[in-house]
Amino acid sequence: MQAGNNKEQERRPMSDWLPITKKEVEMKGWSDLDVILISGDAYVDHPAFGPAAIGRIIEDEGYKVAIIPQPNWQDDLRDFKKLGKPKMFFGVTAGCMDSMVNHYTANKRKRSNDSYTPGGEAGFRPDYAANTYAQILKQIYPDVPVLIGGVEASLRRVTHYDYWSDKLRANILSTSGADMLVYGMGEQPLREIMKLMNKGIPFDSLKTIPQTAFLRNVQEGLPKNKNWQDIELASHEDCLKDKKAYAANFKFIEQESNKLKGRRIIQKVGADHLIINPPYPTMTEKEMDRSFDLPFTRLPHPKYNKRGTIPAFEMIKFSVNMHRGCFGGCSFCTISAHQGKFIASRSQESILKEVEKVTEMPDFKGYISDIGGPSANMYKMKGKVQSICDKCVSPSCIDPVICSNLDTSHQPLIDIYKAVDENPKVKKAFVGSGIRYDMLVPEFNKNGDHTLDEYMEQVLTRHVSGRLKVAPENTADNTLKIMRKPSFKYFKMFKKKFDEIDKKHSLNQQLVPYFISSHPGCDDADMANLAIETKEMGFQLEQVQDFTPTPMTVATVIYYSGFHPYTLEEIYTPKSKKEKLEQNKFFFWYKKENKSFIREKLKTAGREDLAERLLGGVMDHAPKASFEKKDKSKPERRAGKSKQNRDFKKKGNQDFKFRGKKKR
Ligand code: SF4
Repeated sequence: MQAGNNKEQERRPMSDWLPITKKEVEMKGWSDLDVILISGDAYVDHPAFGPAAIGRIIEDEGYKVAIIPQPNWQDDLRDFKKLGKPKMFFGVTAGCMDSMVNHYTANKRKRSNDSYTPGGEAGFRPDYAANTYAQILKQIYPDVPVLIGGVEASLRRVTHYDYWSDKLRANILSTSGADMLVYGMGEQPLREIMKLMNKGIPFDSLKTIPQTAFLRNVQEGLPKNKNWQDIELASHEDCLKDKKAYAANFKFIEQESNKLKGRRIIQKVGADHLIINPPYPTMTEKEMDRSFDLPFTRLPHPKYNKRGTIPAFEMIKFSVNMHRGCFGGCSFCTISAHQGKFIASRSQESILKEVEKVTEMPDFKGYISDIGGPSANMYKMKGKVQSICDKCVSPSCIDPVICSNLDTSHQPLIDIYKAVDENPKVKKAFVGSGIRYDMLVPEFNKNGDHTLDEYMEQVLTRHVSGRLKVAPENTADNTLKIMRKPSFKYFKMFKKKFDEIDKKHSLNQQLVPYFISSHPGCDDADMANLAIETKEMGFQLEQVQDFTPTPMTVATVIYYSGFHPYTLEEIYTPKSKKEKLEQNKFFFWYKKENKSFIREKLKTAGREDLAERLLGGVMDHAPKASFEKKDKSKPERRAGKSKQNRDFKKKGNQDFKFRGKKKR
């Protein structure tokens, strides 16, 4: 793979990349720079890599921009000084991922590799990278504005729970000393910042740009803007004192971030007001095309040639992203908090142009690895009546049911897949991104049209590489409800359809379900149930993960506070290492080393019947009916269960309790 990259890199002049050294800046004939970007990732000049995308936008606005990728933060800080100071501002990002998610596993073990660094080597970025870089820049150049953005900064824009230090942290502006934060996808705010600064407006006067946040001393009051209403959250200090106040904040943060016309969010932190301006409207097709059509080389910077491949780049180099945003609203996911709930789609023309570019890459062998998006099958989907969406506060368009105003036609997707297939240089284009299987089940998608079946048939016959991965995530209705996922019964319906199409075309494809353990609301009984349900469907699970509480999700708020942010009801969450590891063992019930543990656990819980179904020899003939309710806890314990648990549990179709389970 590296050889193909190298060949193409050698063919191109160095000036095709944004400069990353003093020499490359001089080669462009520049004596100074307008903007310098600091990034925690290696520089890959591809639209999927945030620092490159931002750099290209700044360049497109006519400014001189350079990138300092992965500067050394532990020496005399020469990397931060090597390009001098920019005329406009420093832009800081931790990279494509939150640095803590990148550096640590769900069990907080340090990872030994890093997909965004050449050779996959770890150790080229500090923990809390955006924070560290901004602090260093403010220390060296106190008079130069520092603007932070990217996933890490965006999702830490307000008081948030940090799993790795196990505490609430204030917004990242307060901790980093940065002057401004751009949240979400940065194109629109950045273009506006550049335009206003070009008109001579000083950086510190930019207080009314949508999708930006900043701090202001309380004494100075709030900047005036007659177009926006304000909503004030519980202060950071109140959140530190009261978990419920912190949980309650999240409902407003999520709703305002997902509205088409959100309110300005205000939060007091120490002597300051944190001011988060509302987001920009969803990007239009023209704006999306403009971003993706910028002159990316689609390659890592040549300086990395001798250091090995960059795994994240190798993974996506033959893939094409069609849209941004996700209206699924899953509780554990941050996509809508960063990219928004409304879908911003590229034109078919722009997508096909990129496909053509991919086919021209020297090591392209005819296979597009992914033609997708955050959720593969949301391209071009939106409300039928826009004015209804304009007032909507729902965090999801498909939970708990599919909104009757949502147009779920898969026709635009089918058209693109067919158009890509017509390219003679493409042998096969795969859909590697996750498909929302629930939208393809007519019993769930009651207003869906004929394109659902057509899409499924098209995907299974043309665009799956042997395995179709979908994410039911759990089997218990009570946990699925907290996850904002549909009942497992719809997954069973989907599997039936999958099997029918597979048989009809003699495809021999495999359906691979993804699951999460230790999610808020999920107890050992749910995990035992998950193991039995999936065993009885003939699955031996492999694609599973332990829930990681990342900043700015509903699930993380519940994990830390114990309260659901919308209902403020108490919800149980497995938190200790022991509980998490034990839940994980249920996925692998078939492994010899886990069998006695599971048998013992179920026995202690008085559920030998489950042990028998999961591990005993009568499995193959066991009925597939849902389990009977079997609450053997003491009456006073039953009476003491939270209303939340009662509501969720009574709706669950696998509703049973462990005798020894404690209310936490
Ligand atoms: S009205 Fe329906 S389609 Fe529109 S945003 Fe709300 S949930 Fe989504």
